[in-house]
Amino acid sequence: MSTYHELLHWYPDRKFGEAILDSALDAYAIYEMLEHYDVSAIIDLNPRRSKKFTYNEMNINLDGVPVCPIGRKMFDWGVDRKRRRKWQCPNPCSTTTYGRTFYTSTKDNPRLFPRVKRNSKEWYKRYSLRTGVERCIKCQKIDYHLEDSRGRSSRHWSIRAYSIGMCFRFKTFWIVGSELAF
Ligand SMILES: [Zn+2]
Repeated sequence: MSTYHELLHWYPDRKFGEAILDSALDAYAIYEMLEHYDVSAIIDLNPRRSKKFTYNEMNINLDGVPVCPIGRKMFDWGVDRKRRRKWQCPNPCSTTTYGRTFYTSTKDNPRLFPRVKRNSKEWYKRYSLRTGVERCIKCQKIDYHLEDSRGRSSRHWSIRAYSIGMCFRFKTFWIVGSELAF
C-alpha cells in the first residue's frame, strides 16, 4: 500500500487505471484502496485464505460466480447501467417462473467482484501481461546478474538497471533484425 502511495507521489500527473498483482496481495484492504483511487484490480484469489465465500447470503465460488441454494451456478447476464452484474439461476427455483436473480457490484465487494470478471477471457488477457513482465524481471535478476550485484547506493542500482535495459534493447534489435534479414 505504501508502495502505491509512493508511486502516486513520484508520478502525480499519471493516471493508473489497472493494477495486476500476485495473489499474495489478495487482501481486502488492497482492493478497497485501489477502488478508492478508481483503479481496476486484477488479483487472483488466494485459495489458502478462504475456500468459500458468501455475499448477501448467497454462496460465491472461487471464480466469483454466485451458486444458487440448489447448487446451480448462476448465469451471467452482464453489467447493467448501475454497474451491477445481473445473475440468473438456470433452474426455475424461485416462486416466479424464472430462476432466482441476484445482483453483484464491484463497489459492494471489490475483492469478490472485480471490474473485470475473474477467470474470464479478458481476465487472462490482462494477467498474461503480468507474466510477461515477470519473465522480464527474472531475466534482469538472474540472466543479467542484477541480483548478484553488491551495490548499496541507488545510483549504482540505476546504472546497472539502465545497462541491462540497453542490453535488452540490443538483443531485441538483433533478433528482430536477423529475422527481417532472412
Ligand atoms: Zn436456483
